[in-house]
Amino acid sequence: MSVRVRFAPSPTGPLHMGGVRTALFNYLFARKHQGTMILRIEDTDQGRFVPGAEEYIMESLEWCGIQIDEGIKEGGKFGPYRQSDRKLIYKQYADQLLESGWAYYSFDSSEDLDAIRKEYESRKETFSYDTQTRKSLRNSLTLAPDEVKRLLHSGVHFVVRFRMPENHEIVMQDIIRGEVRVNTATLDDKVLFKSDRMPTYHLANVVDDHLMEISHVIRGEEWLPSLPLHVMLYKAFGWTDTMPQFAHLPLILKPNGNGKLSKRDGDKLGFPVFPINWNNPETNEIYSGYREAGYFREAFVNILALLGWNDGTDKEIYTTDELIQAFSLERVGKSGSRFDPEKAKWFNHQYMLLKSNEEIAEEFIKAQGSRLKAQVKAQGSRLRDQVEEVEWNRIVKIISLVKERAEFVKDIWSQAWFFFEAPTTYDEAVIKKRWSPEMPLILKDITSLLLPYLSLAPCALSLGEFETLIKGHIVANSLNMGNVMNILRLCLVGSSVGPGVFDIMALLGPKEVIARIDRAVQTIG
Ligand code: GLU
Repeated sequence: MSVRVRFAPSPTGPLHMGGVRTALFNYLFARKHQGTMILRIEDTDQGRFVPGAEEYIMESLEWCGIQIDEGIKEGGKFGPYRQSDRKLIYKQYADQLLESGWAYYSFDSSEDLDAIRKEYESRKETFSYDTQTRKSLRNSLTLAPDEVKRLLHSGVHFVVRFRMPENHEIVMQDIIRGEVRVNTATLDDKVLFKSDRMPTYHLANVVDDHLMEISHVIRGEEWLPSLPLHVMLYKAFGWTDTMPQFAHLPLILKPNGNGKLSKRDGDKLGFPVFPINWNNPETNEIYSGYREAGYFREAFVNILALLGWNDGTDKEIYTTDELIQAFSLERVGKSGSRFDPEKAKWFNHQYMLLKSNEEIAEEFIKAQGSRLKAQVKAQGSRLRDQVEEVEWNRIVKIISLVKERAEFVKDIWSQAWFFFEAPTTYDEAVIKKRWSPEMPLILKDITSLLLPYLSLAPCALSLGEFETLIKGHIVANSLNMGNVMNILRLCLVGSSVGPGVFDIMALLGPKEVIARIDRAVQTIG
């Protein structure tokens, strides 16, 4: 049997990171088994449709590198892949259940049902339309056949409900949870079809999984309560032999472990819950996404993969190919997985270290383009072509020096600004500790040493050459190495931060080093 899985979101808003994880697990499973990954848009609930949500879902999946084999954009022989485009398919299946007695018409008005609900509440009970209460409600099980016919012809509002068998034990298998048993006495008769000719989620979902020959249904735990009905629907349709296998993924929990990480958490917890920015069309509010927060897509995918799954070892960093190789549903845990935002940043940092300096340099130039203007050429299709060769090489070296200290590309500027701009202030504490009246003279001698190299571009004089020159001078003149080195750093950076002094000098070039020392002496001295 070939593996066919589907991700079946409802376009009722942005996709939450839990939804992306569901898509990812489906994708990993499909690729591992050389199967097919389907994207089906479940939009039967027109009242909850949100404009832009469908595009948002597709853009998010694309950003994560989750490739769709069959879907609304890709096509495929089981289409259409949007349920509102399949509207005409579902009625015959509702009719089939009505004919075989697995479903019935219910004519109760919503006012009647509300009144009954209230009456139950007043007795501190909860009403459900189920195997017992249906016996005294207005439906085709209680009304005379002629009356049912008359009502149907009169155009009155009705719904089609599933007729749960009474007191029947449903036994289900879930790949993650094992055997699950439920007695029908605890279930209600769910609505399958409405008089507006639209199916509900349950009917459309099961019919489509069957017609699209889905082999495995991998979805969030919140759908586990629907499983008994779905299993019964397969039975009612006579499709038990080809029923998909089910796997219900554990919840993603808030960092404190208290409850599910939900869409409503938005930015409240201080980190995004969405893959990419979402602009709420109703309120114009923007909810932040991992992409815009500066996460690498590989890091985001890696973070999601480990929410609820591990391969049994301590390995944490996986490429998507490694995930495909290692993934199995059997190794998905049953219990909720707590999301740790600090660990998420750690993952991003690991990817920062793994990526080539050139790749980070591209991202850095993209992010800081306007600040780097002076060094950037006007045109060029690739970012690296927009930068002078010498400057490109310099930026790549700068990245190699500072990326160890950055979690995100956007952090790099704060670690590296002094390679692009001269300091304008100088740390008082360093001055107090290291400056002395003879310092201007010492610094003058050092700049004189560099004068013969004035015309050399940045990087042309190596850090070793700077070191030999300057350290040689300090030793030969018995100067205080600690003081001079710290003051040199102060002149170049304005404080005591940054990589090695000679690294900085090499990357600034002799001319800029001399200018910065002269300016510091004028300002401080
Ligand atoms: N449309 C449902 C959702 O929004 C799909 C659930 C399922 O995968 O069966 O998540």
